[in-house]
Amino acid sequence: MKKTISDIELKNKKVLIRVDFNVPIQEGVITDDNRIREALPTIEYVIKHGGKAIVFSHLGRIKDESDKESNSLLIVSKRLSELIDKEVIFIPETKGEALENAINQLKPGDILMFENTRFEDIDGKKESKNDPELGQYWASLGDIFVNDAFGTAHRSHASNVGIASNIKTTVAGFLLEKEIKFIGESLENPQRPFVAILGGAKISDKIGVIENLLKIADHILVGGAMGYTFMRALGQETGTSLVEEDKIELAKYLLEKGNGKIIISQDVIVTKTFDKDAEKFVRQYTEIQADEMGMDIGPQTIKLFTSYVEKARTVIWNGPLGVFEFPRFAEGTKQLAVAIGKLHDQATTIVGGGDSAAAVIQYGLKDSFSHISTGGGASLEYLEGKVLPGIQCVDEK
Ligand code: ADP
Ligand code: MG
Repeated sequence: MKKTISDIELKNKKVLIRVDFNVPIQEGVITDDNRIREALPTIEYVIKHGGKAIVFSHLGRIKDESDKESNSLLIVSKRLSELIDKEVIFIPETKGEALENAINQLKPGDILMFENTRFEDIDGKKESKNDPELGQYWASLGDIFVNDAFGTAHRSHASNVGIASNIKTTVAGFLLEKEIKFIGESLENPQRPFVAILGGAKISDKIGVIENLLKIADHILVGGAMGYTFMRALGQETGTSLVEEDKIELAKYLLEKGNGKIIISQDVIVTKTFDKDAEKFVRQYTEIQADEMGMDIGPQTIKLFTSYVEKARTVIWNGPLGVFEFPRFAEGTKQLAVAIGKLHDQATTIVGGGDSAAAVIQYGLKDSFSHISTGGGASLEYLEGKVLPGIQCVDEK
């Protein structure tokens, strides 16, 4: 079990809090502040318990000086201040005397934010390559390290692993704790039946996830574009559907290895063009015509997949089952989201992956799932069964 902020004394302590405030910004305006909102419980907990909160994050990619202005965390600190309804002292530096002095003047309950950790990438990728001196320096600014940035947990950076290796106490914030609790525990010790649902664009993005889930899940339901590569592996023609020709052999291997665990669509929705208004037809997967393209799973498959979901005690879902961006081809994704949402306390239900999570939120089902994972790449690597450095560096209880 990993230590969390609820396990430690925070009073009067300088608490370094690594958050993921990598929010989308367009022309100086934050277009989605969800990541800031999600970090509030951890920051609020720290100040409520008399800690001095020192908050920091990366934002965007920084190659040279010209990237700095559009990737400053200043506007993020302002939004944090609005959301938490308290002053947030912003220091536009990533190190140096101004930052150190400001930290030394903090009183219990104060919040300070410093500048984008990736500004340290300009001169030799110090943040992203976990430069030992940088990690040591940041660690020297605080007494305790709280890692709450799941989105970068698959990376070994100075602002997570670097700090943790140079400070006495590293704990998980509430967000990271939730990811460990749901994804980590479901993979380690799932309630069964464990049903995995995989979709999305490419098998190649998800080979590791499929291989790992083959070892753990009882059933793997496959939809989305990757389903067509599996159909080809079974010797079927799939018309103009998206197929990764060079992954057909791999799909054959996975089907064999799965020995009945992998279940593909029986019927599919096809069109003649990739268009949001295209006329649609239902086809058995064995009857897709040369000029037809698979866009969604069909009604019979929705029923089949739903019947597996209804009996499940654990569901992990990654990847939309069709081109859900077009409402006409969102039926499979939507119906499965609804079916999973209906499980409530009967099952642990997890969705990971940027697009699938967006779909669940779009259908208003966020609160019907046990857990919506917040990190795209990190969620995938976690589902692949990899040890994430940003989790590994947290102290054990
Ligand atoms: P996630 O972000 O949840 O991990 P992916 O990024 O792997 O999911 O895949 C999402 C994309 O897959 C969506 O843009 C969706 O349109 C696409 N997709 C799903 N089914 C199909 C299909 N049958 N044909 C083409 N694209 C598809
Ligand atoms: Mg995606």
